[in-house]
Amino acid sequence: MSKYLFEPPPPVSVEIAGLNVRFPINRIFCVGRNYAAHVREMGFDPDREEPCYFTKSARCLAPSGSEIPYPPGTENYHHEIELVVAIGRAGFELPVDAALSVVYGYACGLDMTRRDLQVASRENKGPWDIGKDFENSAIIGQIRTVEEIGHPASGRIQLSVNDELRQDSDLENLIWSVPEIIAHLSRFYRLEPGDLIYTGTPDGVGPVRRGDHITGSVASAGEITLTIGR
Ligand code: MN
Repeated sequence: MSKYLFEPPPPVSVEIAGLNVRFPINRIFCVGRNYAAHVREMGFDPDREEPCYFTKSARCLAPSGSEIPYPPGTENYHHEIELVVAIGRAGFELPVDAALSVVYGYACGLDMTRRDLQVASRENKGPWDIGKDFENSAIIGQIRTVEEIGHPASGRIQLSVNDELRQDSDLENLIWSVPEIIAHLSRFYRLEPGDLIYTGTPDGVGPVRRGDHITGSVASAGEITLTIGR
């Protein structure tokens, strides 16, 4: 067996509530513009269009409870609270009514965004990576298993910054439901165990500053905290 030139990066994984094994991460898919009020606040018409996807590297993940540095290159660093789906089984071209069978569990997540860079990329008709896919941009709480919480389709999704409520909605307001997203995504990708899907954020996104403390929760999928370093 050949040796590596340098030590490969360690596998990325997430805690599972109540278990002493970790959930290894493969890929991170994200859905854009999936709550009508957020679509409107971003300047678009929430008429039912095809779901919009982007991806983040698994190396962007940081656990809930982290203190992360304010990222470079931005003056408009935004919070987005989201329901995260953890895929536990392979799935390809899944019908909507079978899509939930590949879900292992759910978590509360933050899709942290360099909004100024994302909007600039969008206006140049370029990729969103520089605004979305960067170190510590995918925050995740513990995964709660389907066995424990079932499949949350309704319930409060909320986020506060320094105890001031900024985002407050309900999972019922998702334009594309979890099974619809999984079915649609599985027409374009062969979903694999370890894939995560960030399902989109409700309205109320906004900037955070150095020293801010974020708290949030998503129905029965758990809670999340994040501190922005000074
Ligand atoms: Mn998002």
